[in-house]
Amino acid sequence: MQLSYSLGRAGVRHAVISADPGPGGMFRRWPFFQRLLSWTKPFAPEERGSRSYERYDWNSLIGEEDRLRAIQPGLMDGTSYFPARTEMERNLTTFAERADLPVRYGCRWTGTRREGDQFVLETTDGEYRCRVPVFAFGMAEPWKPDIPGMDAVPHYADCRAADTYAGKRIFIIGKEVSAFELANGFLPWAKQIVLASPRPVALSVVTRSLVGVRARYVQPYEDHVLGGGVVLVNASIDEISRTGAGFRVRTTRSDGGGPLIFEVDDVIATTGFTPPLGDLVKLGAQTSGRTKIPALTPLFESIGLPGAYMAGTVTQGAPGLKKHGMPSSSGAVHGHRYNARILARHIAQKHFGIDPPRPTLQSDALLPYLLAEVTRAPELWHQKSYLARTVLADPSRGLIDDGILPLQLFVDLQGPDGVAVTVEANAAGDLYPAVYVRKDNAITEHLLPSNPLLDFETAEHRRQLSDALRPLGL
Ligand SMILES: Cc1cc2nc3c(=O)[nH]c(=O)nc-3n(C[C@H](O)[C@H](O)[C@H](O)COP(=O)(O)OP(=O)(O)OC[C@H]3O[C@@H](n4cnc5c(N)ncnc54)[C@H](O)[C@@H]3O)c2cc1C
Repeated sequence: MQLSYSLGRAGVRHAVISADPGPGGMFRRWPFFQRLLSWTKPFAPEERGSRSYERYDWNSLIGEEDRLRAIQPGLMDGTSYFPARTEMERNLTTFAERADLPVRYGCRWTGTRREGDQFVLETTDGEYRCRVPVFAFGMAEPWKPDIPGMDAVPHYADCRAADTYAGKRIFIIGKEVSAFELANGFLPWAKQIVLASPRPVALSVVTRSLVGVRARYVQPYEDHVLGGGVVLVNASIDEISRTGAGFRVRTTRSDGGGPLIFEVDDVIATTGFTPPLGDLVKLGAQTSGRTKIPALTPLFESIGLPGAYMAGTVTQGAPGLKKHGMPSSSGAVHGHRYNARILARHIAQKHFGIDPPRPTLQSDALLPYLLAEVTRAPELWHQKSYLARTVLADPSRGLIDDGILPLQLFVDLQGPDGVAVTVEANAAGDLYPAVYVRKDNAITEHLLPSNPLLDFETAEHRRQLSDALRPLGL
């Protein structure tokens, strides 16, 4: 949806199909307990609707026109800064209506073939021919590991209404975000909740990143550490079998403590989701990991199926530099909405010869511009060490603002002299600007200091950035 809007603005003729009957994608059904884990602050330090406000609004899609900006906060009832699922669905529907997006709903892509330099997409409504297909099919197909008895275990996707778990002993396989979302929602219903998987739980407030269970769902963890009705177990699941109305789950403790057997009323697998790749793997598309995330170039092109691109949550298949082990935010809206803009620009340039305007900068404006970007640019705050503001030194035009681009492109590829700035986070939780200077195709990295108020426009930042830019003659 975001990509369609951006392609339209880039002047690229395109068609969009969706198997769903209307906008909303996965948010038409989930999260199961009907409230998101990504926040929107209706009242924020930046003016609602401005670009810098996007840092505080993780859920709105991003448009150029005022009527398409910051839609989500206007649809929230004030009871939480995590929108309800219905509020998120309305947010996406409103964007689609206001942007007048031409989407053919209820149309399922069923097969793919290549004819010359074209792709032919077979659908339930006939065939579409195009030079450039973009697959934004999400990652919402249930995935379960191959464990004896697993066939009888419902996935997150098949949970019953919460009240039907009243007074039950529930065994949840998994200890990641969706496991904790369910455990949190079941707290007022279940008699006991066991969460089991081989590795210990990771909490985002401890990893100081988006890795691990988000603070929003951490209550079952507190219940566990205080000895309430939630039990976290580090154990591998060996076998699940039916016992009349319930289940027996055989496990082996990860600490070498031997077997543990659980007799429970319900078992739920929160073991992950996978993308509906159709025949793309048969055509050569490579994937990675057990959940088969498509392997992508930094500009979101399939590795193994050149010419086919991906958008949305599957753009996490372009991992970036992963500095300090920090992943991108591409699995969620606040990350992939920026990838979509970059992809639209790339497709317009590479396949349709449409070049976006790239404004020039006076050399004395560069330093304050870069410091303002690392202080306020939402792209850099949401996609840390992944997206960067890039400025190039063009011998004929002078300094050119090359826009927001993947940092990996600037660092790994050869090109004109220039500078890329981003926001970086490390495992200690420090947040600070990182500056990459390219001179004669050699890259130097400069880390600027952090600041308690996250103000990177201080005299010290000016001084250090000025030193970093010196090799460029600026
Ligand atoms: C349980 C869960 C909770 C989540 N919570 C959040 C959250 O709180 N905040 C957040 O930012 N992100 C969340 N995410 C991630 C979320 O899925 C994405 O941010 C967002 O929905 C991805 O958008 P998308 O367009 O890539 O995929 P989706 O929203 O999944 O949309 C994919 C679309 O592709 C269509 N499609 C699939 N196959 C075909 C086909 N063969 N033919 C035609 N159309 C097809 C589907 O019908 C659907 O409309 C969550 C994910 C899960 C699984």
